Amino acid sequence: MIKTLGIISSIIPFGDTSLILKALSWDKGQISILAKGWRKKQEPVLRFCEYEFTLYEPKEEGLHLLKEASVLQDFTQYPSTEIWAAAEAGVELLSKIIIPSNESHDYYTVQREYLAYLQKTHINGILIFWRLFLRVFKLLGIESQLNTCRICGNKRALYAIDNAVGHICQECFEDLSESGQYTLLSQNATEILRLLPEIGMHLDRIKVSTVAVSELNRYFLQYYQVHQKQTLKLKSLSVLCQFYD
Ligand SMILES: [Zn+2]
Repeated sequence: MIKTLGIISSIIPFGDTSLILKALSWDKGQISILAKGWRKKQEPVLRFCEYEFTLYEPKEEGLHLLKEASVLQDFTQYPSTEIWAAAEAGVELLSKIIIPSNESHDYYTVQREYLAYLQKTHINGILIFWRLFLRVFKLLGIESQLNTCRICGNKRALYAIDNAVGHICQECFEDLSESGQYTLLSQNATEILRLLPEIGMHLDRIKVSTVAVSELNRYFLQYYQVHQKQTLKLKSLSVLCQFYD
């Protein structure tokens, strides 16, 4: 039997009375838990709640069995639907990543801080979501050098992105004879990327355009795909995008 902290990302009914929970755990990355008979309980388990779980470990690869769950922190409530959608997108992002057990503390902390931060956020939740992406890149060892030009190596605001999602400054871009393989970014998007590492200080004054939303979503998904060599689809991201126009 083990005890571990976990934040539930999804709950699926199983049989007549049981549930299968997917959770990001403190000790073991993403785990699946069979909660036998828990649909009849008076206190239901909730998505986005942080629990201390008492679990029987699976005999082989498979489901943990839930013995007890006690609530530690409630991350189910957000100031608005927009912010709630940002919470959904972040939890979905983390659920797609294969987390080695020895790194699960780091991913758990990042997700927990993300949800706690969103509970205090009233506007521009997508900026916090993109910052989460940066933190995930760092944990994956594919940190994005947002302000370093791939051609000249100088720290300069990025202006365009190449096919491998490398960053190009404006000067280098203008020197290129062949610019067909580069994607220009709008000023709004480059400004957001420049400020993203400390975006919390700028949340209230940035207006996020529809164009920047689609450019930056494409940027982050493509960056992930190029560096991780696997596709990434986030259903909840299209819900989040609807709040910016
Ligand atoms: Zn340059």
